[in-house]
Amino acid sequence: MEETVFSKIIKGEIPCVKIYEDEDNFAFLDINPNTKGHTLVITKEPYENILKVPEDKHCSLMKAIIKVTKAVKEGTGAAGVNVYTNCGKEAGQEVFHLHFHIIPRYNKKEFPLFPNKKYESENEKNEIAKKIINSF
Ligand code: 5GP
Repeated sequence: MEETVFSKIIKGEIPCVKIYEDEDNFAFLDINPNTKGHTLVITKEPYENILKVPEDKHCSLMKAIIKVTKAVKEGTGAAGVNVYTNCGKEAGQEVFHLHFHIIPRYNKKEFPLFPNKKYESENEKNEIAKKIINSF
């Protein structure tokens, strides 16, 4: 897989404003923040996206995400925080090295959340649930 900008950031080849580091994870400020304090938590290993993280690293990653989220919220004094990852280009992923966005929210009107849609029928809803459940 081609090296991304995030591997270069970890190696110090591209500058960043570092926020946190542990054995498996690294966090730094997003260069184009959605709000002030927007932080990215990334794995040191260049997993392409969340689906590629091996199970023995799930716990370490989630601990880092929660730790950084608490610090971002407390440090910025934000009222809330969005925590999410984009997986795949159709979902908006642009850098193919796993990263979680930690976005402090000072005010709900800063930018809109995802749209709420409706199912066309109970049947449609049940069918999609069945497909998901059958995929475990
Ligand atoms: P994605 O759209 O892949 O979920 O998010 C990629 C994020 O990486 C974007 O929010 C973008 O601003 C951030 N980003 C891209 N290149 C750099 C960079 O060189 N430095 C920093 N700090 N952030 C970057």
